[in-house]
Amino acid sequence: MTERLLLCTDLDRTLIPNGSQPESPDAREVFATLAADPRVVLAYVTGRHRQLVEDAMAQYQLPTPDFVIGDVGTTIYRLEAGSNWQPDTDWAHQVGADWNGKTNRDLQELLADVRALAPQEAHKQNLHKVSYYLALDSDLAALELAINRRLLSGAVRARLVWSVDEPAATGLLDILPSGASKYHAVTALQRNEGFSDKDTVFSGDSGNDIEVLASPIPAVLVANSEPAVQARAMREAAAEGNSARLYIARGDFYGMNGNYSAGILEGIAHYHPRLLSWMGLEATT
Ligand SMILES: [Mg+2]
Repeated sequence: MTERLLLCTDLDRTLIPNGSQPESPDAREVFATLAADPRVVLAYVTGRHRQLVEDAMAQYQLPTPDFVIGDVGTTIYRLEAGSNWQPDTDWAHQVGADWNGKTNRDLQELLADVRALAPQEAHKQNLHKVSYYLALDSDLAALELAINRRLLSGAVRARLVWSVDEPAATGLLDILPSGASKYHAVTALQRNEGFSDKDTVFSGDSGNDIEVLASPIPAVLVANSEPAVQARAMREAAAEGNSARLYIARGDFYGMNGNYSAGILEGIAHYHPRLLSWMGLEATT
């Protein structure tokens, strides 16, 4: 019998309906009902930094979570009554150790002579996240070599995450502490709050969610996720023996379409049918 649930969810195009596909009209309200149950501990797990999470919460009337894992796993906050965001200093310390005590500014200095990298705007930078723009036709192998050589000279253990902003036709690079990722932060939260994989569900839709989606943590891909992401998540989950812990929402769940919050609810019900009553969808038994 599930006594509690740690509900960890990505925001953009997972809980937040800011993709091209339609949202079921009542889904976010049912999600809010579930989130309001005192047995649910809610964590937002996002690439957004604190201000952008607060903006989204206001704009989309999202429930106030118990925790926010921000900046792609480099920050963890506990939200206390009202709007008091308490940074998890243990996590910051652990993440900072990967960078040998260095922070954003130090890494930007180390990499200042790598001319292919243009620093992103200040609001996209964080203490333990350095973000750059680069040309789409950049030689990534050569760049990676140049970056790693400089980071090594500073005894910095980092992870390079390359992506593409298609609409802006630009390459993106995030440099993160090697131990900081959505997955590592979620497992730290599980440990701190006394949750196991049995009473945790994660939901996501895209590339930086895949590590958690393929992990032993029961996870759900919302129906509006890209087919390529679904294929990759299924492949990686299978490779790690976790296929039974990845659910892809398909809709037709209490009249909802499986997109965004409807998909999250459908996935939770898949793993924990009893929780339908926590959603107010079925009478308490
Ligand atoms: Mg997303």
